[in-house]
Amino acid sequence: MPKRIRLCKKKAEEILKGAGITNPPVDVKGIAESLFLEVVESDTGEFGGRALLGDGQIHVNSSDSPAGQRFSIGHEIGHLVLHADNFVFSAHEDPESELYAEDPDKELELEANYFSSVLLVPPKWLRKDVDAGMLPPELAERYLVSKDVIFIALEQNRLLHQIGRR
Ligand SMILES: [Zn+2]
Repeated sequence: MPKRIRLCKKKAEEILKGAGITNPPVDVKGIAESLFLEVVESDTGEFGGRALLGDGQIHVNSSDSPAGQRFSIGHEIGHLVLHADNFVFSAHEDPESELYAEDPDKELELEANYFSSVLLVPPKWLRKDVDAGMLPPELAERYLVSKDVIFIALEQNRLLHQIGRR
């Protein structure tokens, strides 16, 4: 978990509110476009997702699943919203590699991932859906994210135990 959780949540809530989005699935591509970011599908090789903010472009890997691409777009929006002052582009190394582990900007990566998670799966909506009895596979479909993203969101919002009791 990143350190600036509240800031990430606040920024994501502001964006959803500004875009008038009140239900899943969140139109993350539309949000990117409203921020003057162009989403470009490309075969970026070793990069999972890559933003060239100077060019106003978000590159997503065309071989990723739609859910994976959506998460990458949310991640890059996070960099723009949270880190625009810090740098002009982000490149994503393989998370398994040592280079990544030594990345001094890892905190920024954690923040961008957390931001993407709360943008695509807003905690308040998730809580309501879990209360209504929805299970992880249905939630993944409803929010158009991977099951991993749903499980992480459930854990971060302390909702896993509620699902486990069923
Ligand atoms: Zn990043």
